[in-house]
Amino acid sequence: MITQQKSLKGYLKEYFGFAAFKDNQEAIIKSVLNKQDTFVVMPTGGGKSLCYQLPAIISDGTAIIISPLIALMKNQVDMMRSYANSDDMAHFLNSSLTKVQSQKVKADLRTGRTKMLYVAPETLTKKDNIEFLSEIPVSFVAVDEAHCISEWGHDFRPEYRRIREMIDAIDHKIPIVALTATATPKVQSDIIKNLQMEEPQTFISSFLRENLYYEVKPKGKKSIVIKDIVRFIKSTPRQSGIIYCLNRKTTEELAELLNVNGVSAAPYHAGLDTATRTKTQDMFLMEDVEVIVATIAFGMGIDKPDVRFVIHYNIPKSLENYYQETGRAGRDGLEGNCIAYYSYEDIHKLEKFLRDKPVAEREIGSQHLMEVSAYAESSACRRQFLLHYFGEEYDTSRCGTGECDNCRHPKEQVECKNEMKMVLHAVEEVNESGNIPYLVNLITGKRSQDIASFGHTALESFGIGKEKSELFWNSIIRHALLNNLIRKDIEEYGIIKLTQQGRAFLKKPKSVKMPINRDYEELEAEMEEAVMARSTALDPTLLNMLKDLRKRVATQMDVPPFVVFQDPSLEDMATQYPIDMDEMTKIAGVSQGKAQRYGEQFVELIREYVEENEIERPQDVTVKSVPSNSESKVFIIRQVDRKMPLEDIARAKKLSMPQLYTEIETIVSSGTKLDITYYINDIMDGETQDIIYDYFRTAETDSLEAAYAELEPEGVTIEEIQMMRMKFLSEMAN
Ligand SMILES: [Zn+2]
Repeated sequence: MITQQKSLKGYLKEYFGFAAFKDNQEAIIKSVLNKQDTFVVMPTGGGKSLCYQLPAIISDGTAIIISPLIALMKNQVDMMRSYANSDDMAHFLNSSLTKVQSQKVKADLRTGRTKMLYVAPETLTKKDNIEFLSEIPVSFVAVDEAHCISEWGHDFRPEYRRIREMIDAIDHKIPIVALTATATPKVQSDIIKNLQMEEPQTFISSFLRENLYYEVKPKGKKSIVIKDIVRFIKSTPRQSGIIYCLNRKTTEELAELLNVNGVSAAPYHAGLDTATRTKTQDMFLMEDVEVIVATIAFGMGIDKPDVRFVIHYNIPKSLENYYQETGRAGRDGLEGNCIAYYSYEDIHKLEKFLRDKPVAEREIGSQHLMEVSAYAESSACRRQFLLHYFGEEYDTSRCGTGECDNCRHPKEQVECKNEMKMVLHAVEEVNESGNIPYLVNLITGKRSQDIASFGHTALESFGIGKEKSELFWNSIIRHALLNNLIRKDIEEYGIIKLTQQGRAFLKKPKSVKMPINRDYEELEAEMEEAVMARSTALDPTLLNMLKDLRKRVATQMDVPPFVVFQDPSLEDMATQYPIDMDEMTKIAGVSQGKAQRYGEQFVELIREYVEENEIERPQDVTVKSVPSNSESKVFIIRQVDRKMPLEDIARAKKLSMPQLYTEIETIVSSGTKLDITYYINDIMDGETQDIIYDYFRTAETDSLEAAYAELEPEGVTIEEIQMMRMKFLSEMAN
């Protein structure tokens, strides 16, 4: 029986603070209230949970809500309690509770005041829980994240397949509402079948996200991709975004790189302890951190409406994951940029993960991957491709002037009949025994060990396509796969076999018009050039002005010019245009101390220069790398402070003496004071020291060679000059 004293809108306002329902929320709620089995597909951000929360509040009895994640449950319960202003309104029952806590929950449930009980499927496998639940009135069961039921979904959980039997054990007449944010037609039918839903009322919202822009970029060299990411983020500073990576190490590495480049970022992955993860989430929500670099562990239950971009540093393992993850951008309806970096290498990595999985899982997994690469390589409208995947039609003219990269830059169709024939012929020639990399090597004429040992260099196919790139041939092969001319054998991992259609094609080839999929190699090179051009242009006029200034400052201070700033630092300034002290400290070889001592005049000069000449500064495109050996530098500084013999330090760090000198010079020239007098006194007499020191006081350059040319007649060695130069620079410059 439904106690419906007020209108649904009244409850909506009272409990959730909204004035109106979104989309088909109201119809769904009515269906649930009418005790009908209800099936809901609603993309993330559509207000899915409200579809069971509101009916739970106004129905008699308690609604059981099955949810896969314990962490998520607590959030939702907290949220419900805050709406309702009383704690017994919602509870959760799972393995994280103590015995006393579970008893308290059950006691509250018996009073009838609890309207929602969140449980994990595991909770329902316990006999005493089932017995308890069959004793209290249950209004309905909501199965959230229902795609977990299907092996074809992106987050299959075997225990979800037992939900029906658990419900039957409580009371088989309880109505069910199943909800998911992502489901292909195949997954949808799996859910309905498995839950044995009776003629469910089905509500499927459109998956179209008008405000999202989709783009796939070639993933070339890591340094270039990172530059591209930094430039993108800096082009619209202070915006929230998420970067998804495949593994933990990459998340940490990328986050560090972003921080070094002035973007506040934090890593997030399952290897971090709960406290750290919670803190990171909070910082993201509070905007103390702009960018989260995460594995897929991040995002479930995060509802930040103004995420402006989602970047996939690694392509995800299925299009459902991709849609789900990109869906976290622009939930407020404003702009959201979804950029994925794609390389074959990443696909191969994901394929490797599948290798040890059971056959069924492997088959599903590799089909997902095929969809992902087809999407990435496709020259068709991205939206159309995605929506088609979810069983929805989309008129590409709606993508209009380009809310996806392919519509923005359409590609022409090219005739590939001959190339397709070559591929199929190659498959035949190797007796259907090669995988994709093998075929590509064969066609492009790469004499790999395998090819040589099978004697395949003698085949017609060997080198037949060497004029075209590997990527080109990869595209043709993928196209052949997608069009069922060839197939990947599932049992023999990755081996390519001809299909009936493929054989027919070989007998009677016909026209194959396809837009050549994006040539990633070419795009990479273009991207590389663009990035490099923007980050390495040195401004010769400014460099000369900086050199003049250095000369004046040096004279004023009575030190040689290189003591003020060394040439590489000036060159970096003439490239980066630092216009405040903070930026100045990011210039190569400029420490905090050095910036404070000499930096101000330089910053002023550069600032004026930039303003007068309306210079567009490359701050957004230059990317600093993380010093890989900073730890070793710290070690050296400590040991020198303890006056350890340099030989011992070199040995401890496994460095040669020249390597150690180079390290010390880097430390000194970036502005850290390092007193090696104790060592110099050990190996050099006072007179030699004075000769070299005096030379540097008046020298025009700090070049070792120049010094050696001048001082050699005095019997000074180049090593002694180097030692003294370190001492001199350390004393004068720091
Ligand atoms: Zn489009």
